[in-house]
Amino acid sequence: MKTSRVRIGGQSFPLHSLNTIVIGSGAAGLNAAVRLHEFGQTDIAVVTDRFGAGTSANSGSDKQTYYKLSLSGDRPDSAFDMARDLAAGGSMHGDIALAEAQGSLEAFFHLVGLGVPFPHDRFGAYVGYKTDHDPRQRATSAGPLTSKLMFEALAAEVRHRKIRVFDGHEAIALLAEGRGAAKKVIGAVALDKKKLSSRNRGFTLFNAANVILATGGPGGMYEHSVYPESQTGSHGLLFEAGAVAHNLTESQFGLASVKFRWNVSGSYQQVVPRYISTDERGGDEREFLNDYFPDMGALATAVFLKGYQWPFDPRKAVDGGSSLIDILVHEENVVKGRRVFLDFRRDPGGGGKLAPFEPSLLGPAAYGYLERSGALMATPIARLRKMNGPAADLYKSHGIDLAREPLEIAVCAQHNNGGFRGSVWWESSLRGLFPVGEVCGTHGVTRPGGAALNAGQVGSARAALFIARRRAGRPLAAAAFVRAAKAVVLEKHGQAGAMINREKTGSLAPEACVAEVRRRMSSCAAAVRDPEEVRVEKARARELWLRARREIRVASARDLAKAFKALDLALTHAVYLEAIGEYLARGGKSRGSYLVPDPAGRPPHPLLGERWAFSLSGPGDFVNANILEVRLDAADRVRRKWVPVRPVPAADGWFETTWDDFRKDRIVVEEG
Ligand SMILES: Cc1cc2nc3c(=O)[nH]c(=O)nc-3n(C[C@H](O)[C@H](O)[C@H](O)COP(=O)(O)OP(=O)(O)OC[C@H]3O[C@@H](n4cnc5c(N)ncnc54)[C@H](O)[C@@H]3O)c2cc1C
Repeated sequence: MKTSRVRIGGQSFPLHSLNTIVIGSGAAGLNAAVRLHEFGQTDIAVVTDRFGAGTSANSGSDKQTYYKLSLSGDRPDSAFDMARDLAAGGSMHGDIALAEAQGSLEAFFHLVGLGVPFPHDRFGAYVGYKTDHDPRQRATSAGPLTSKLMFEALAAEVRHRKIRVFDGHEAIALLAEGRGAAKKVIGAVALDKKKLSSRNRGFTLFNAANVILATGGPGGMYEHSVYPESQTGSHGLLFEAGAVAHNLTESQFGLASVKFRWNVSGSYQQVVPRYISTDERGGDEREFLNDYFPDMGALATAVFLKGYQWPFDPRKAVDGGSSLIDILVHEENVVKGRRVFLDFRRDPGGGGKLAPFEPSLLGPAAYGYLERSGALMATPIARLRKMNGPAADLYKSHGIDLAREPLEIAVCAQHNNGGFRGSVWWESSLRGLFPVGEVCGTHGVTRPGGAALNAGQVGSARAALFIARRRAGRPLAAAAFVRAAKAVVLEKHGQAGAMINREKTGSLAPEACVAEVRRRMSSCAAAVRDPEEVRVEKARARELWLRARREIRVASARDLAKAFKALDLALTHAVYLEAIGEYLARGGKSRGSYLVPDPAGRPPHPLLGERWAFSLSGPGDFVNANILEVRLDAADRVRRKWVPVRPVPAADGWFETTWDDFRKDRIVVEEG
């Protein structure tokens, strides 16, 4: 890496020139850096707003899952089977699914080698279990904090390899040269958060032959979110650069605690807690599920099933299925404005025609599970302590004692299946830009639990291999870089100055902008998406973005990072709403993890009324045979394109020809 200073518009800026920068320090970004180094490309650096922030380092569930090819039991598995299962939810390209399946074991053992404690038996079998959308037992886990353990192991390796980390650097723009198909990313502008009050406002320029973007999911867009507070996302960077995104409509929503953000999946439901709602002040307590189930056995079994059917799924919302619970929580919380809690202190009490809960009322599978776990105790908290003590301790370590207080929950945004489109080497539509991890939307309408962590590891490893083999060249000479970067640097620097100097009257505070984004997304673009509301709100979202560009004001330079983040989120939500609007305009119905009200359908429960009527999208629908791609054009319009889903390639593993191609370096090659 070469460090110098350059002058642009009368200001002096630090310039770091190197082969590759990795933006973001989650499990995907750190793996990209480690892999580049392993493959021999050492002219690299990680640029991150805060080391230790993001989803990987701060999220989990009762048993956080990693999905890979099966390595245990006596049933054979194959990468082709796994690829078909990854793509089975629809709207996932088959070649990407195959690459993720083929790469899953290498990625997994790379983590094992770095010390992530995935459990194995005495014969060396890395035993698995079945997760959601998984027909096999491909899931494994290192416990509630799998992604944190991955982050820590990869961070230790980054330190061990002495890879340079620019901590406290928030990327605010990507830099590119050329136009149309020849457009190429050449680096990025970041704010050095320790130097915001200096003359150049902390602007730091990176001149890189390649940019790996690992900035995670757009968690900051939602009011009800289980993404950690530190994970807001930076999709606006890529939209502004013109990168093509796809499947933005597909996200996962599910029940999570709100005071401390955590998924209440698995054991938290299998011990059958009492669901209660109260008014704003905690009065008028009701066991609101009671009205919707014919008997306590059906209610308790639906709660139990929610454990491993965690994401909201409209297909499971009818006939007393487990996703009816998400709808009922949404109805209490969002529609009626009440607070909803899981109470682990007492069993569901029944009432009316419902008997009080006792384990013998559960369906045979659920009862058998508790019995085999030795967890037929008298209260949910006792059952939880027996079945998964660490799950109860986890809340205690965050100041919530489940034995003493109920746990407030909501239906929250958890993961974005879509994101930026990548090639089989994870290169975006812009040459030199490689989105990896959650920002790269490889998944389709549904995904097996754990597939996100696998995709992040496989994608970052493949991007690193491709860069090491094909893009090992030097970055631009400083003068050429300045020529290409000047316009964007001046624009962003000018914007920073304008935001600081703006009059207070008629201005928009970053916090107010973000609050509006969050309200809008959670009310009409999360688990429930009313077409009429989306039509109105997508226009308002665009207005907010345009207004934010004109009116955001910060009291001092110290708040610049916050202001750029608000701008990013305003743009991101406007593009997401355009994508959702396009899906609905094409007749898209309920699928994945969201419900689209449809008067021609039927309500999930008679008591919920016609307002909740919906119908499911069918496999032959246009929206399922095609994937919606969107991008922002040079005039800031959102361009849309539907492209057919590519199937899983046919098996073609003839050794002699592959070996020949391999020896002649014809495997890791530029895409046609
Ligand atoms: C509660 C919860 C439970 C989950 N459980 C599972 C599970 O069981 N299995 C599974 O497969 N997946 C699960 N996921 C999803 C999975 O954890 C994430 O998709 C994954 O960790 C994302 O990793 P990442 O490296 O892409 O991004 P992150 O880990 O989010 O990292 C993003 C990084 O980018 C940085 N950053 C962002 N913007 C900028 C910027 N402008 N400049 C500089 N740095 C920036 C952030 O600080 C952070 O370092 C879960 C998610 C949640 C929220």
